[in-house]
Amino acid sequence: MAKIFCIANQKGGVGKTTTTVNLAAGLAQIGQRALVVDLDPQGNATMGSGIDKRTIETSVYDVLLGTAAVADARRRSPQGGYDLLPANRELAGAEIELVGLEHRNERLRRALAAVADDYDVVLIDCPPSLSLLTLNGLVAAHGVIVPMQCEYFALEGLSDLVNTIRQVHANLNRDLQVIGLLRVMFDPRITLQQQVSEQLKGHFGDKVFDTVIPRNVRLAEAPSYGQPGLVFDPASKGAQAYLAFAQEMVRRLAAAR
Ligand code: ADP
Ligand code: MG
Repeated sequence: MAKIFCIANQKGGVGKTTTTVNLAAGLAQIGQRALVVDLDPQGNATMGSGIDKRTIETSVYDVLLGTAAVADARRRSPQGGYDLLPANRELAGAEIELVGLEHRNERLRRALAAVADDYDVVLIDCPPSLSLLTLNGLVAAHGVIVPMQCEYFALEGLSDLVNTIRQVHANLNRDLQVIGLLRVMFDPRITLQQQVSEQLKGHFGDKVFDTVIPRNVRLAEAPSYGQPGLVFDPASKGAQAYLAFAQEMVRRLAAAR
């Protein structure tokens, strides 16, 4: 049975998609069967996995509306080593169309149940909002991974997300928990980042992952080649850090069993 994780943070540009595709590639490299669900109409995880969002015929949109099964819509990332449930701009419409449908919060969870035995881990790349799409992700998941930059306002934004997760836990999904906070785009030369990092550890303790993802330009270059950074430049500091993160995730999962 797959463990399902949302990569969520309602802020844009904080490294959700980079974390999703590189964690998936890292998990694949250490022998885990992984599925990425692109739940963002921008389709960045789709493009960054080497699948052209302009040419996909069946996507997560069809799955949410119930006109396709995950097994029909999923694709293999050509070089990532994992499967992908792709997204494109059509998904933006789902936000409105879902409102009138039955079980509108649970549609992703129900759809993923059919492929739970095909994977060890499912990673859901959430859009930068606390929307109905994100809600579908949170209802489907066992846990949330929160990538964040160690900046002053990062902590403020976090409380909205933590409140949402609490509410979903209380009302819709008793399984849901925060797995951990992942420090990304980290630059140790910046004193403020070190201070915020220490504050995070003080506040959240072992909910802060040991692995720290450095700011590394190779991770930012990789998507334009349709590859996770881990494939594009395996020796780069960013790739090495995401591989270490995949190993940390597997250790934590084993310890939780
Ligand atoms: P989100 O999905 O939260 O909007 P992205 O993963 O798309 O964020 O990241 C935002 C931008 O920052 C992208 O251009 C991405 O390539 C870049 N980026 C993400 N992580 C890193 C990193 N560790 N080092 C350098 N650039 C990064
Ligand atoms: Mg994104």
